[in-house]
Amino acid sequence: VNLTNQIAAGEVIERPASVVKELVENAIDAGSSRIRVDVIDAGLKQIIVQDNGSGIAGNQLELAFTRHATSKINTEHDLFNISTLGFRGEALASIAAVSQVEILTNTGNAAGTRAEFTAGTKTIQEDAAAVQGTQITVKDLFYNTPARLKYLRSPRTEMMKIVDIINRLALGYPQIALTLVNEGRTLLQTAGNGNLGQTVANVYGRNIASKMIPFSSSDSDFTVSGLISKPELTRSTRNFISLLLNGRYIRNFQLAAAILDGYGTNLAVKHYPIAVVQIETDPLLVDVNVHPTKREVRLSKETGLRRLITGAISDALLDKEV
Ligand code: ADP
Ligand code: MG
Repeated sequence: VNLTNQIAAGEVIERPASVVKELVENAIDAGSSRIRVDVIDAGLKQIIVQDNGSGIAGNQLELAFTRHATSKINTEHDLFNISTLGFRGEALASIAAVSQVEILTNTGNAAGTRAEFTAGTKTIQEDAAAVQGTQITVKDLFYNTPARLKYLRSPRTEMMKIVDIINRLALGYPQIALTLVNEGRTLLQTAGNGNLGQTVANVYGRNIASKMIPFSSSDSDFTVSGLISKPELTRSTRNFISLLLNGRYIRNFQLAAAILDGYGTNLAVKHYPIAVVQIETDPLLVDVNVHPTKREVRLSKETGLRRLITGAISDALLDKEV
């Protein structure tokens, strides 16, 4: 076992939901229009992610599972101009270090490839029939890191975290048909037709989707758009607020506060909106390389963005009142 890969895995792969997040993000980066996730035992026994993206060439496969190997950036300049979800080249190596991985992939030009990795080491690679795209099967997650297993929450909670990640990815990418299946039962299936309202209906239900108001606004740096619940529909937690920056789900206290400002949230009564806020901007204005999970980002011109978000939301809600 490669120790540095295991240490990196500790940072990037905290729990089954991290595996799901990394694999689906890879599928998105590979240009997939259809992604399916299958889990068993909250992902501990098995996670399968299947996509119809670019595939990986047989002679690139080993490299893809090598730490810090990424096909997504080449130069230092690229590091400040990131348009993909991945760029650190850590996920596949980290996942393989703490599980049993099987990959079946085809770039569409030749025969496909099948390979297996155990504790990070490739044990088999062979030609195999496969449709275009990639299917990665992760089995027995954390089988060789008992400390990590102990730290996990109940299967129910771990499953909820998987659902949450998939929901946010679906809301960030309404143009991708995303399916989540738990032990044979379909929990989410989006149409992938680019319609955010329909995706919200898939994620939160039709009733909620029918009570959402669209908003949008832009300046020279940012385009902000999305859906926010009518004031009569509130939640007691902030968990139903999704901030998506160039498709990436992020957490940002200041931007969340800007949403609440626009909504007129009275923080004393804890009435929060359901909101999907999509922000599009030049990747040059975003520093994603703050934390291994890329959940936190640094933004240039954040003050302007906050004003834009607050204004777009309060205008949309005011419009509805008249
Ligand atoms: P990163 O996403 O940061 O580049 P990963 O370890 O997640 O690093 O993936 C390593 C490389 O493997 C990627 O750069 C990409 O070239 C390739 N790859 C991984 N998953 C897929 C996929 N589903 N389809 C096509 N290529 C993939
Ligand atoms: Mg990746």
